[in-house]
Amino acid sequence: MSQTLGKDSAIAIVGGGIGGLTLANALQKQGYERVTVFEQWEHMKTRGGHISIMPAASGGSLPVLEALGLHEKVNAVAPVVRGIKSLANRHVLGEYPISLGPRIMREALQHILLENLRPDTVCLGKALCGFKEKGNNVELLFEGGVTEMFDLVVAADGINSTVSRQLFPDCGKQFSGFVYYACLAKGAFMPEGLFYDHHVHGAGKAFTVRAVSGAGLDGRWDGAYFVVRADAPASSAWDSEGTKEHIQPLLALMREHAGGCPSWLMEIVEKSERVWKWGIYEHSSKPSWISAGGRVVLLGDAAHAMAPFLGLGAQSAMLDAHALAAELVRDQPLADALLAFETQRKGPCEQITRMANFEGMGVTSFGLAAAYRNSLKDLVRKWYGWLGTLSPQWFGQSAAALLVWCYMRGFHASERCNAIIYK
Ligand SMILES: Cc1cc2nc3c(=O)[nH]c(=O)nc-3n(C[C@H](O)[C@H](O)[C@H](O)COP(=O)(O)OP(=O)(O)OC[C@H]3O[C@@H](n4cnc5c(N)ncnc54)[C@H](O)[C@@H]3O)c2cc1C
Repeated sequence: MSQTLGKDSAIAIVGGGIGGLTLANALQKQGYERVTVFEQWEHMKTRGGHISIMPAASGGSLPVLEALGLHEKVNAVAPVVRGIKSLANRHVLGEYPISLGPRIMREALQHILLENLRPDTVCLGKALCGFKEKGNNVELLFEGGVTEMFDLVVAADGINSTVSRQLFPDCGKQFSGFVYYACLAKGAFMPEGLFYDHHVHGAGKAFTVRAVSGAGLDGRWDGAYFVVRADAPASSAWDSEGTKEHIQPLLALMREHAGGCPSWLMEIVEKSERVWKWGIYEHSSKPSWISAGGRVVLLGDAAHAMAPFLGLGAQSAMLDAHALAAELVRDQPLADALLAFETQRKGPCEQITRMANFEGMGVTSFGLAAAYRNSLKDLVRKWYGWLGTLSPQWFGQSAAALLVWCYMRGFHASERCNAIIYK
């Protein structure tokens, strides 16, 4: 019985989202002949708005698209974000060029990934119910009672992962305390190439609105995304509806504390075809991403669902897929390949999850915490960049990490003071 995966081994990918489709592409490119993606929906579904595909320097997945040879197809569709304007209560905190890469509608990205696969790679309408590891194989059980055997199963079935729940029942999703409203309007409303980030805060109330353009196969879509804190969990279903009325109190707060709202932003809200309202959930850290039997591995949101405030969730899923395919193709036992993948990706993803939650706290902070954040954030960003260039490298990186640690401690202290002041 071989413990090494061959090019003719049967590999199942559960979930045809961005992570699963990226992995299928990467494996087929490496020469794996029997890769099957199982997707529960009868057709590929549209999910939310657009996402940035950032360069490697920003922790993004542009290198993955380049390795797959798909970057030109994405570039042909998507506009590139070139600059960021960061404001707090209408005061400009920073305005600088930034390379966030192309910004593409998820639907378009999924379409490009799907089109590049061999025909019949994706089985639609096949929902997984559970699995059993049997020696060197894994039996997948689908709705309707159908079973199929595989040599390796990769769970890319997202935040509500069936596989992850079976492996680690105590590490499910938890409400992060944030709610996100997304307004998407077809057309060009805002200045091109801009990432607009406005933190609005008053006594005991705050939110951040981020606006950015992206594009799908049907042209440009401008999006305005509002983040607020919430005590009660809200639905995280992708088609969960909000209303334009939900946005009105936020625009009123903007008028009260930020001297009004840019007319193009009002237009995006007014012209948006629908408003999504999502409760934001995260996964707690799991003991491992690999099953006890060593034939099932987690990837993407199934492994490390994170708050979206750094825009790195889908990109991390793509980076996971790239790393997993690279380890599988190396001449090494399967167990070593999976362990090398987990070692490479688990720590960084968990760190991003923590940082994304912290970013959520920052963008929804008010009172003392908002004053602390907004006076220091840009300074910390600049020092962080400068310290990172110091040599020896370990010294620069340690100094940069210490700076961030101090900044975070200070922020949490100011949040505790807020809790006393505004109780
Ligand atoms: C509001 C919001 C904004 C975001 N913004 C960004 C952003 O700007 N940039 C970014 O990089 N990330 C962003 N993300 C995160 C990103 O959406 C996710 O990290 C990404 O979709 C994860 O990809 P995935 O392939 O792991 O899972 P998913 O995209 O969730 O795909 C999982 C797939 O598995 C299928 N599936 C589930 N269960 C089963 C089953 N039992 N059997 C068969 N199929 C199954 C699902 O139908 C789905 O197609 C955002 C997330 C949210 C909530």
